Amino acid sequence: MKVTVVGTGYVGLVTGACLSEMGNHVVCLDVDERKIRILNEGGIPIHEPGLEEIVRRNAAAGRLQFTTDVETAVAHGTVQFIGVGTPPDEDGSADLQYVLAAARNIGRHMTDYKVIVDKSTVPVGTAAKVRDAVRQALAERGLEMDFSVVSNPEFLKEGAAVEDCMRPDRIVVGADDERAVLLMRALYTPFMRNHDRLLVMDLPSAEFTKYAANAMLATRISFMNELSRLAEKVGADIESVRKGIGSDPRIGTHFLYAGTGYGGSCFPKDVKALIHTGRENGVRLEVLEAVESVNDRQKLVLVDKIVARYGEDLAGRTFALWGLAFKPNTDDMREAPSRVVVEALLARGARVRAYDPVAMDEARRVMEGLQGVDFVASQAEALAGADALVVVTEWKEFRNPDFDGIKAALKQPVIFDGRNLYDPAYMKSLGFEYRAIGRAGA
Ligand code: NAD
Repeated sequence: MKVTVVGTGYVGLVTGACLSEMGNHVVCLDVDERKIRILNEGGIPIHEPGLEEIVRRNAAAGRLQFTTDVETAVAHGTVQFIGVGTPPDEDGSADLQYVLAAARNIGRHMTDYKVIVDKSTVPVGTAAKVRDAVRQALAERGLEMDFSVVSNPEFLKEGAAVEDCMRPDRIVVGADDERAVLLMRALYTPFMRNHDRLLVMDLPSAEFTKYAANAMLATRISFMNELSRLAEKVGADIESVRKGIGSDPRIGTHFLYAGTGYGGSCFPKDVKALIHTGRENGVRLEVLEAVESVNDRQKLVLVDKIVARYGEDLAGRTFALWGLAFKPNTDDMREAPSRVVVEALLARGARVRAYDPVAMDEARRVMEGLQGVDFVASQAEALAGADALVVVTEWKEFRNPDFDGIKAALKQPVIFDGRNLYDPAYMKSLGFEYRAIGRAGA
């Protein structure tokens, strides 16, 4: 099948690459010339495990192409995926300018039937706006043409995006015409050979499903973070509690980790956008309002613990910070809790020496201009002479580090662990002062 993917970010590039892996001919379009240049030179502009290999293989086979040329891209695909960003607007709503610009471009250049597929996360009612934008662009050319609009929200997780795309647990397709559904089913059949995972529904339900999923996951995280605050006070260990409740199949084990709050490009903006949609429709989403405020407070939990230990004035202190990306296996720094932690420490006069296995370039870019933070090349370099170690992201390489080396490198053996990676009793036995999240003994 001939497919065009508009937007070569985490979603667009992975989608395009995985579709080309199944034999489709895919053209990826982006307005960012830098990204397209990197891709055309055989590079990958983002960090995503397994992606480079698939891109290289399919580009070499001529099934995956990259362009900034709108006309070529629109002409190519019968199916046109829109996978551009939908950042939060000032009022918290999803900013649809990129989605609608992509839709207008399709209307301006299409010459035959297209299935226009919203893969970006967009509020209920966006499919109708996309349809209007395409119709209007066609009308400006004095044309009417047949096309379908489909909602196909993306559920991939950064850090495991290729795996999620190749083996989806469900594929949600919102549509109101059979022709489009038939084409979507044909496109996705190779990804669900053993089980039919296609959930066909109406357009508003498909659009809503994506927000509902992210809101539920964010709720679980804020719920555990809130309980972790109480656990500390009453002498319970949130890690034991997590295992105790997660073993109930009605609850399950996923997304029950207390930590430094959720971040990334999706949960914060999607929770905000859903609250906004509620408000617009006269429905106050009180649970989600609480989810958001608990999260805002939780991003500062490590700083609160550091201040409780050293006082408000942190001048003259240096903290080694391990982990900058908002979660492991990605270089994405959007809404990363590390940014709040670094800024709060610097604001109190501290210095920070930060290390991340892959997000260093992104971190340098988003924290440009901040005085007092040094980006260093290794875990050990971050530690040398620091007052304490602060763990913010749960990269695997931080899980069983050289504790003797940490102790020797720090001024005093103090660890603030925002991800509950270590056993408090073991840390105590090694002579560490260990502060974690929701753990009475730490
Ligand atoms: P991203 O910022 O990584 O990529 C978006 C890309 O779109 C950029 O490269 C940008 O240059 C390009 N773009 C913008 N306007 C364009 C236009 N008119 N024509 C062509 N290209 C254009 O974003 P992302 O993280 O891939 O997210 C995309 C959408 O998918 C968002 O709505 C997001 O909420 C949703 N989503 C993201 C994830 C995730 O984990 N990142 C998961 C599921 C859904």
